Amino acid sequence: MINQILEKIKEYDTIIIHRHKRPDGDCIGSQFGLKYFIEDNFPNKKVYAVGDEVPTYLNFNGISENITDDIYNDALVIVVDTSVMSRICDERYNTGKYLIKIDHHDDYDEFGDIQYVEKTYPACCQIIALMIKRWGLPLSKRAATALYTGLVTDTGRFQFRGVDHNTFEAAGFLTDADIDISYIYTKLNLKDYNNFKLEAYLYKHMKTTPNGVVYMHFTKRIINKFKVSREDAAALVSCMSNIRNHPFWITFVDYPDNIRVRLRSRTIAINEIGKKYRGGGHLQACGATVYNKKEIKALLKDADELLKKYREEIEGLE
Ligand code: AMP
Repeated sequence: MINQILEKIKEYDTIIIHRHKRPDGDCIGSQFGLKYFIEDNFPNKKVYAVGDEVPTYLNFNGISENITDDIYNDALVIVVDTSVMSRICDERYNTGKYLIKIDHHDDYDEFGDIQYVEKTYPACCQIIALMIKRWGLPLSKRAATALYTGLVTDTGRFQFRGVDHNTFEAAGFLTDADIDISYIYTKLNLKDYNNFKLEAYLYKHMKTTPNGVVYMHFTKRIINKFKVSREDAAALVSCMSNIRNHPFWITFVDYPDNIRVRLRSRTIAINEIGKKYRGGGHLQACGATVYNKKEIKALLKDADELLKKYREEIEGLE
């Protein structure tokens, strides 16, 4: 399959790379890593990375390009790190000549003339890095920097389940391209003063359900009060990841039209809850969308019951 993908890249003069909505490090890294790899090896091709705004903490990898509809006419479209069609950013993804999907999620829709999915890989950037390694073509520093960004962010800095020898093979391959690891971590780790204040607020105000699902609702009022972006508030989900006896945690973030839900767990599968509330993703990290407080309550009740069930089944769950 990976040779077929390379053949298609060679065949097309115009390549457009899409990723998912609400971008994270892995989809941005996959998108720009692949774009730079193609541009560096095939300088005559036009390669575009499209989508909405790239979050500030990731824009050292590049910014999205606006392109007109006609560019799609003879284009190869590659969708990275996106399992379901409703999550693809920019609906024009299926107006090109040929469509390839490269992804690593557990839940997925069938789409694309070629679908390359490695469900056991913890990052889409790992798939792309190893694919490039197998192709045996040169990898530039800028492409490797983007791919390393996705590899470290989607593995929680190499901490999550799914990290194995393949992950370190990919990391080794990327570091061979002379990337500046310290620069990447600095870019990823720096936060604004207001974000630290909001983080302190979270530690003080987070709540728990009876069976230990920890949660925080960043309302419009809180977001305005702390003068942070919704994405900044959403990013604080990781602050609740290490609380003993609370292996399941959730953030709710008010958006103009809905409430974004981010669900995370250390040990148990929680994606059924995500799916039930218009979402999905990975077994232990998924998203959902709800529309009001009543739905937040219902989701929390389901989450609480799920955790109760796991506690009955798994001794010493902490
Ligand atoms: P997030 O909390 O937005 O970082 O999402 C966690 C993981 O679940 C990511 O890999 C997302 O791509 C995926 N995800 C989030 N929302 C959805 C959704 N509505 N449908 C399918 N996958 C999702």
